[in-house]
Amino acid sequence: MEKDARYNSPIDNNADNDIDANTNGDGDPYIDNNADKDTVINKIRGIVGFLIDLDGCVYKGETLIEGSDAAIKALKRTGRKVLYLTNNSTKTPQEYALKLRRLGIDADPAEILTSAVATAAYMRRFERGSCYVIGEEALRSALTQEGFTIIEEGNERCAKYVVCGLDRGLTYGKLAAACTAIHRGAKFIATNTDPNLPVEGGYLPGAGSIVGAVRIATGVRPIVVGKPSRYIMEIALGRLGLNKEKVAIVGDRIDIDVKAGKVAGIFTVLVSSEGTLIDKKMRLTPDLVVRRLYDLTALL
Ligand SMILES: [Mg+2]
Repeated sequence: MEKDARYNSPIDNNADNDIDANTNGDGDPYIDNNADKDTVINKIRGIVGFLIDLDGCVYKGETLIEGSDAAIKALKRTGRKVLYLTNNSTKTPQEYALKLRRLGIDADPAEILTSAVATAAYMRRFERGSCYVIGEEALRSALTQEGFTIIEEGNERCAKYVVCGLDRGLTYGKLAAACTAIHRGAKFIATNTDPNLPVEGGYLPGAGSIVGAVRIATGVRPIVVGKPSRYIMEIALGRLGLNKEKVAIVGDRIDIDVKAGKVAGIFTVLVSSEGTLIDKKMRLTPDLVVRRLYDLTALL
């Protein structure tokens, strides 16, 4: 079977030698050799809006990444706008704001755009109707807030839309209901297709694993809203209300965050604790690579 690039796993990518790890050993930011260092530094200094990924960038699981709190404070002190952009659809913006505050970062729900909220916002362009949802409460509530109704398993034949995200209570019955609805003509929409979620010592299946199962069973490709899709980027840029030249995305995944930035045509910053990771195969080179979010603020 032909390999679908959107479902490439970073584990696969690591298995071959297409990723360069160029650590310079002293924590200095890495700038691609082909780019002029002064130009890159000048560009980052002119950025006034930062789209910041959460997991792997601000914190790892339940632990703050050292200096992230100071970095966010420094960005705000210098009058810059911050919008947190996460593909995780299992928490509401309110829950993320609480989590950030618990970790010592002052945050407002309006500063957080999740793939669940983005998916519901994207769906404003469609006629309201019933959704069969594979996903958790945060996704369901984002959809109901936009005026969509949620139908339960057993009534999936009436669904106008199937909306699929990460669901840690996934069952075969839910997959079957989604497939039935799609076969009967429901539009298939996915919050995101992250293949997995990095955790301490390994990976957990991400939304992409669930979306992939429905896609393979039905042969229908979903509309994908989360990073690296242009849809979530359009919503994020709209919220910041800034020109593209003034906005940067900061994240820890080349295939998701850097790619989203390239799709949107904005400045891209990769946070990589393992040093510089340039994915030759995907031909995606971040404009700047830093070890931690905090190292970025040192350049501003
Ligand atoms: Mg991340």
